[in-house]
This record gives sequence, C-alpha cells and structure tokens, in this order.
Amino acid sequence: MHFYCSVCEKSYLIEGLDYQCACGGLFKLHKEKGEKITTEVSLGEVKTPMLKRTLQEKEVYLKLDYMQPTGSFKDRGAFAMVNKLRELGIKEVVEDSSGNAGAAFAGYCAAAGIKCNIYLPENTSPGKIKQISAYKANVVKVPGTRDDTAKAILKAAERTYYASHVYNPLFFEGTKSLAYEIYEQIGIPDYIVVPAGNGTMLLGIYKGFKEIGQLPRIIVVQSKNCAPIFSKFKKQPVSEMKSTAAEGIAIQQPKRIDEMIEAIKDSKGDIIAVDDEEVIKAQEMLGEMGIYIEVTSGAAVAGMLQYFKDGYDNRLTIVVPLTGMGLKK
Ligand SMILES: [Zn+2]
Repeated sequence: MHFYCSVCEKSYLIEGLDYQCACGGLFKLHKEKGEKITTEVSLGEVKTPMLKRTLQEKEVYLKLDYMQPTGSFKDRGAFAMVNKLRELGIKEVVEDSSGNAGAAFAGYCAAAGIKCNIYLPENTSPGKIKQISAYKANVVKVPGTRDDTAKAILKAAERTYYASHVYNPLFFEGTKSLAYEIYEQIGIPDYIVVPAGNGTMLLGIYKGFKEIGQLPRIIVVQSKNCAPIFSKFKKQPVSEMKSTAAEGIAIQQPKRIDEMIEAIKDSKGDIIAVDDEEVIKAQEMLGEMGIYIEVTSGAAVAGMLQYFKDGYDNRLTIVVPLTGMGLKK
C-alpha cells in the first residue's frame, strides 16, 4: 500500500511527512489486490440503521450515520486512517478540524495510544472543544482567522504526521464503507443526497459505489452562503461567502473540488444550494419525528426536499445519510 500523486503519479510512503506531491498534486491510495487495513483499534463501530420515512409526501431512507462512536460519520475515516497509522508505527499526529473530524481523530487516537494535536482557530466555540478535550487531545488554539490556522498546521506538518481528513486518502478509504453498507441494506439506490464541504462523504461513497460497480445518482447539497462547488459545477461566478448555520460544510476553498465535480458528473448527478432557513426547518422536522441531528445534517434533508419538489416519483429509492448527532452542540 502506498500513496501516489494524482497528477504525475510519483509514489510516496504512507508514513512519510509529505501530505501532497512536490508538484502540488493530491495523493491517491494504491492498494495491492486483497490488501486490507487492520481493524484492531475499535471503538465499537456499527452498521448504522436505515429508517424508511415519509417527508412531505416523499418516501426516503434515512441512514443514521451519526450513530458511530464519536457521533458522526467521520468515524469511518478516522477508524481506517488511525488503524493504518498505528500499524505503521506513527506515534503522533496533527490535524485541523474544529468539528466532527477533529472529535473523530481525537477519539480514535486515544484508543490507539497515538498522541493527537488538534489545531483550531482561537474563536472556536467551547462546546466544540469539549469533546476533543475529553479524549485528551492537545488542543492548539491559533490566533486569527481560519487561514491562520491553516498556515500553522502546515508549519506543524513539517515535523509531525499530518492526519488530514482532506489531504490523506486513507480517510476516504474509510468513508467508502458507507456505500458498501447501503448496498448491503437496500442495494443500489436511485439517488443519494449528500451534504458536501470538503467532500469526505461524497468522495467516499463515490469510491465505494465505483468499486461495487454501479453508481446511484449523487445529489450534492451546499449552503447558499458558502457554495464554491455549486458555483463551479453550474459555471456561475462565486458569490460572496457568508456564515451559515450549516457550518460543517462551509468550506471556502475545498482542495478536492475537481474530484468532487467529476464524481457528480460521472454519477449523472446534480448539485443544489439551500438557505439556512430551510436547513433549520429540516432539522426541526426530523426532531418532531424523534430524530435528533446537528444543524449541518439538516442541509441534506432540505436539499432532498428541494430537489424532488417537482420531480418526485414513488418508485424511486432515495437515501439521505444523516452525518452528525444533535447532541454535538
Ligand atoms: Zn506529482
């Protein structure tokens, strides 16, 4: 197993400090046939349930992926990456995520005995830091903007392994298990509606369904307040970024944007953008049914309702993964 550059195909060791190619290309993972990642480090991952529900007269399968050990689907990626890094003898990592990815890494690193440093902007809300701190990760608060944090993490990555949920392809190797599970549970759906910021779920399910051999149409949902993938896909000028309730997908410059657009096109899918009001309404709608999700997860539900507003057909199988637990914030 090794990394290789998606542009010039140069090979790199997984355990090295390089997180992207010298040419600027992003890494992909090469695996020999039958090669598997160990699963010794476990926090009790589960095959998450699917609930069939009717939302505004549309029947959908809700995939409760927040029911993983740290409360979000990001555990799938952290599980795979941390297991591989432990096997390779990595003792310490750095990562920058104020949200679910940070919590997932902190939890799995605690289980693996790997020292974990999470870099966050200084103004990150205490609620978000609470879970990461409970896992005894070292929280490094960086003064200034999100960009300043990005600079600080790249500096730290010169010395310490960068367990990035964006750069490191091992993360997608983990999130692809979502596709296999859906396939086992209901076969290949007609549509899957996923929220996207950095695209960790989108690229994971794309990879998984590609391996299975058949793609559902992938409908990607972004927030209208921060919609760079939407703008690029629709060839529209990028509108000004504003803060959004769906902060888990508010990524201004997603590194893997071209890969994401390619995945949507390959699946004959589409992309839509939803406003905060719809996102919050969707979260409330599920709450009224006894399903408690974090606000960002409401984006996928809002996107599904909007996308199928006119073109719904009750013969369609539609899956909406719910990414994060409501208790998070
Ligand atoms: Zn390269």
